[in-house]
Amino acid sequence: MLIIFGWRVVFFTIGKGLFHCPSCGGDREYRRRQGRRFFTLFFIPVIPLTKAGPEFVECDTCHGRYSLSVLSLPTAADLAAVPARLLRTAISQVLRSGDVTHTGARERTVALVRAAGDGSYDESVLDADLVRPFDEVRQEIGRSSAQLAPEARERFLQQAAEIALIDGPLTFSERETLAAVGADLTLTHVQINAVIEIAERAAAS
Ligand SMILES: [Zn+2]
Repeated sequence: MLIIFGWRVVFFTIGKGLFHCPSCGGDREYRRRQGRRFFTLFFIPVIPLTKAGPEFVECDTCHGRYSLSVLSLPTAADLAAVPARLLRTAISQVLRSGDVTHTGARERTVALVRAAGDGSYDESVLDADLVRPFDEVRQEIGRSSAQLAPEARERFLQQAAEIALIDGPLTFSERETLAAVGADLTLTHVQINAVIEIAERAAAS
């Protein structure tokens, strides 16, 4: 009896997701794949041997293959989510330095974050934001800030100040938090004070 044997590479999908495909130039579905050599008997892979090459990312649309580092590029969806995320993070920081149960402040927060592009934001997500560790939040604000223009960062601080002013004049603690958030948003002291003053004047009128 003739026995036909050999080996071939079989690719396994070990993950899926959305990435920015350099060839397609946009967000595409990808598969994260790994090849493995198999001993074949009558062309059927039967015994797994060594890994064949490094893991790679394959675009579902153009089938281009890339190294895993391509996954660190932000997708268009990531970038579009930055403003709403930064705003909700800034506001929740300020809100927790005042009265987090104030109905008006909570409703206004949800409305502002939704208007900034996150249509699924609601009070339950807000509650989760309110208990996030400070360090984690501050790092996130610092990272995202670099992707936004100064005007947008000033507007977000102003909206956070507006929320803090809903239940009355700024307390010492609210003022301190606004200054800290402003600094995390990489605004200068002058910018921060000007923004807070504008919000206070608007609230008083
Ligand atoms: Zn592609």
